Amino acid sequence: MSALFISDLHLCEQRPGTLRAFFAFLQGPARSVQALYILGDLFEYWAGDDDATLLGNAVSDALAALAETGTSIFFLPGNRDFLLGESFARRARMQILPDPALIDLGGEAVLLSHGDILCTDDEHYQSFRRLVRDPAWQRAFLERPLAQRKQVIEGLRFQSETAKQEKTMEIMDVNASAVERLLCEHGYPTLIHGHTHRPAHHVHVVDGRSCERWVLADWHDDAPYLRWDGANSPVALRFGPKPDG
Ligand code: MN
Repeated sequence: MSALFISDLHLCEQRPGTLRAFFAFLQGPARSVQALYILGDLFEYWAGDDDATLLGNAVSDALAALAETGTSIFFLPGNRDFLLGESFARRARMQILPDPALIDLGGEAVLLSHGDILCTDDEHYQSFRRLVRDPAWQRAFLERPLAQRKQVIEGLRFQSETAKQEKTMEIMDVNASAVERLLCEHGYPTLIHGHTHRPAHHVHVVDGRSCERWVLADWHDDAPYLRWDGANSPVALRFGPKPDG
């Protein structure tokens, strides 16, 4: 068994280099593993599965072609693409996972998350998150005309960019207690998440138990991933494409 973990590609028409890197990744490294886990923010934004863009269609076709070769694809929603639904997932032949999702890698428990739930110092964002992750809110929002939804999302993206400039780096990172609480709640697994765009390998000692936390990198024209190669105890993970990255 082997698996790749990626997140924060932020695919959009304005970033053709990233799109090219993603298609090359799907035809290259992703074909050599049994499972590909996309941990959120695959897209820069997602207004609903009825938004039939060339970009969305090209991505679902490329993912379905990968699934055809035998790689299982899993998607866990990010803060940009949480409106991605079953209809797109079916087209892309990928399975949507809840956040967080506990999986088994070679007999070891690994917890997957986008990571935004861990940024608890940003109270303003967390209350926004609670609102937009409410199924009733999502149903009502998705019933609005697509053009209107896109307008709202544009406004939110602008607000979020402006707000980011006023927030400190600490506020936008994960909160250590939130990480430790999550690890404790799930039986001290290895944690893999993205969102903060601060790739790193951390070790947290929680209740005397040592837990690894891997933070995925965001994409530009390169295609960074975390790779698991089947060895177990401890779960053997490494960053790629650089072999010793
Ligand atoms: Mn994110």
